[in-house]
Amino acid sequence: MLYQSTRNKNVLVKSADAIKLGIAPDGGLFVPQEKVKLSPAHIMNFSEMNYNARAVEILKLFLTDFTQDEIKECVDKAYNKDKFETENIAPVYKLNDSVYFLELWHGPTCAFKDMALQILPHLLTKAVLKTGEDKEVVILVATSGDTGKAALEGFKDVEGTRIIVFYPDNGVSEIQKLQMITQEGQNVGVCAVEGNFDDAQNGVKAIFTDSAYNDLLEKYNFRLSSANSINWGRLVPQIIYYFSAYADLLKNEEIKEGEKINIVVPTGNFGNILAAYYAKEMGLPVNKLICASNENNVLTEFIRTGVYDRNREFRTTLSPSMDILISSNLERLLFDVTGHDDLRVKQWMQELKETGRYEVHDITKQKIKEIFWAGYCDDEATSQTIKETEMNYSYVIDTHTAVAKNVYDQYARETGDNTKTVIASTASPFKFNQSVLMALAGEEEIQGKSEFELLEILAEKSGLRIPKSLSQLKDKAILHNIKCKKEEMEKVVNRMLQLE
Ligand SMILES: *Cc1c(COP(=O)(O)O)cnc(C)c1O
Repeated sequence: MLYQSTRNKNVLVKSADAIKLGIAPDGGLFVPQEKVKLSPAHIMNFSEMNYNARAVEILKLFLTDFTQDEIKECVDKAYNKDKFETENIAPVYKLNDSVYFLELWHGPTCAFKDMALQILPHLLTKAVLKTGEDKEVVILVATSGDTGKAALEGFKDVEGTRIIVFYPDNGVSEIQKLQMITQEGQNVGVCAVEGNFDDAQNGVKAIFTDSAYNDLLEKYNFRLSSANSINWGRLVPQIIYYFSAYADLLKNEEIKEGEKINIVVPTGNFGNILAAYYAKEMGLPVNKLICASNENNVLTEFIRTGVYDRNREFRTTLSPSMDILISSNLERLLFDVTGHDDLRVKQWMQELKETGRYEVHDITKQKIKEIFWAGYCDDEATSQTIKETEMNYSYVIDTHTAVAKNVYDQYARETGDNTKTVIASTASPFKFNQSVLMALAGEEEIQGKSEFELLEILAEKSGLRIPKSLSQLKDKAILHNIKCKKEEMEKVVNRMLQLE
């Protein structure tokens, strides 16, 4: 199986190259050239397997230049008792007879990004060896909060790699910031950027596409790579848990063989929901994919009208990991639903870059609408949903998951559809303790309290255990204390790699 660029079908590489490069040289994203299909019997078989066995079955279909042993080694290094606080890795929680939460936050940083970023470094180091690369890989990450920490944890002290993370100065939660600035490891760098997530992301993209700069790095024996959700090695592990959730529902006799489910995903960069789309294309019985946004609702508008327009005010919300106006992974969906029309995709992306807007044609609009439903909610509705879910079910969800639950409720009301539904639960409520407690108990309860007091209060209120990685933050030293302007990011990289 080969991979092609969404902006030029004739660029063809193996999966190891796609993972090593992160982004195609023409600025496009790598996608599999062929469709991968699973038979219904194969999908049913997953219910007899544990998470790791399911993972190997899925990954080997896409990473055909890796041996099965290599894949198994990567899977076992990523998903194990030392890294995840639950044996099931991604357990399904039953809320009521039609709604289930797929808990994707039992990994080391308490958010769903661990699902991919625990395995990516192992896939990447294998990919580097396979392609005969002799340079040291430098991972550059722009983060809206969760990716950064998850990437740092995944790559710390992995031989042959360095990692540098840029986060928006005022766009991450206190806990997220603490998690990053206390990061340990010999090969890690962390820097705050003045601006929002898109500023940080555009800065990183500019470094990747600056060919003179890349030549310079090469002279020093470094090669840039990305761990952002545009890397195929990030996306492919996310397909696994949708099959896994289905297999668990089947095993627990919540659904019958072949029964369709809805999947709701709180969406930012369109990575997680794109993985659900790929799962559906592979044969997972899916009725609707429901795309949930916060007030940065570019995707709601796009799915409803076919117009993508980023020319709007950027909002800082209670679900910061979804505060995004350019959803990079959407490019892969466009490539797929247009029947691999690379020229068209390239043109839309050009328009997006130049004018901040593009509109897809009617057939594409129609196709997208058949597959997806989209909605959004504001911060007040998010808080209300956290409170209601706790009151009705004694189950505490984080702000991102609450956006998804709220949008699902809108969907169910509007359509009357009672298909069983899996909601991707993307972060532990402890990670956004302040907003969650504010929703549950109000302002007075949190005023003047430290982050760590808040964790204790939330544990009491929710009956949940504080994840170890968060309670231990208290005793960690601050190791990363720099801030830069968005024009200075290259300089920061130079300094961290000791080029000047
Ligand atoms: C990253 C993130 C999201 C958004 O996922 P995308 O793949 O970017 O759409 C949602 N919730 C949480 C908690 C996240 O960290």
